[in-house]
Amino acid sequence: MGILEVKNVSKRFGGLKALSDVNLSVRENTVHAIIGPNGAGKSTLLNCLIGKLIPDTGSVMFDGQSVLGRKPHEINQMGISRVFQTPEIFSDLTVFENVMIPCFAKRDGAFRMHAIGKTSGESDIIEQAERMLIDVNMQDKRHVQASSLSRGDKRRLEMAMCLSQQPKLLLLDEPTAGMARADTNNTIDLLKEIKAKRDITMAIIEHDMHVVFSLAERITVLAQGTPLVEETPENIKGHPKVREAYLGE
Ligand code: ADP
Ligand code: MG
Repeated sequence: MGILEVKNVSKRFGGLKALSDVNLSVRENTVHAIIGPNGAGKSTLLNCLIGKLIPDTGSVMFDGQSVLGRKPHEINQMGISRVFQTPEIFSDLTVFENVMIPCFAKRDGAFRMHAIGKTSGESDIIEQAERMLIDVNMQDKRHVQASSLSRGDKRRLEMAMCLSQQPKLLLLDEPTAGMARADTNNTIDLLKEIKAKRDITMAIIEHDMHVVFSLAERITVLAQGTPLVEETPENIKGHPKVREAYLGE
């Protein structure tokens, strides 16, 4: 049994079948990539996992519990966090203040913007925020305003905020889309560092094969809403079905 078990999930948009009987099993503490051509249904699948979309049929089990019918914030509380294509950070706040927000939210069950700056008596939060910054290698930038960070560092900060929620499963939808090679490599290193430091499962949707082959232990190929193959990276490379669907050969 995987930590995430998707069974026979289908989703229609009007006459278009975006997902047809999708099965996916993501094993705990692995990095699982979902690849496939544009329009294959990757984002639709991800949205079904986080409660943004409700599948027409099928089941989605996370950590032994169904996510279906739960609201996005409830699914987040269950231990699923999502990293967005554009980092979602508070530009006017410093790096450290940004990381403190989800630490408060995790402890108190709510965002408390007004608590930022009032750090006396909040040593547990400060300690946790410090740890997150160390995890993403940003201790030396703690007083920098978020808006002035490089793109790669914004991604690092967002990851620290995400990890503050202590997710069991991290979902990443094209985390390196639009990045220059240096920032892409920086992101690969970051995800490897995070993986090495803690028990976490990652499901990553990615176009860039360099990223996929650098990180993934299992790869699912989705085409026209249906999983074609689930394999290790070595076995995916020359797979005839994959070449046909993905590379149009
Ligand atoms: P991918 O992420 O693999 O590129 P998507 O999941 O975004 O693919 O889209 C799968 C198909 O579903 C596409 O044909 C897309 O146009 C369609 N689609 C996605 N979201 C919607 C929506 N909200 N309404 C109608 N059609 C949609
Ligand atoms: Mg997409």
